[in-house]
Amino acid sequence: MTEQPERYYLNGDQKEGAPDLWFCSRCDLFVSEVHFSEDHHSKQTLSNYEKYLAEIKSLPIYMKNTRGKMRRPANPPNCLA
Ligand SMILES: [Zn+2]
Repeated sequence: MTEQPERYYLNGDQKEGAPDLWFCSRCDLFVSEVHFSEDHHSKQTLSNYEKYLAEIKSLPIYMKNTRGKMRRPANPPNCLA
């Protein structure tokens, strides 16, 4: 039995099979797009977009460390990118 790699989501990534939901990595939840323009994360040092950029930058290291257990398509829909 082959284990399917689990989808890995960055801040703002669209949920597979649920186009109305996007991943907020600060809340660790799938949320509606309006969540990112609400001000409850506005006191963070990084903006939502900057957080996404930081995450995508460390993605190759993360993927290497998890040794194929996780997957993320090359250019998935993201409401912040
Ligand atoms: Zn959030």
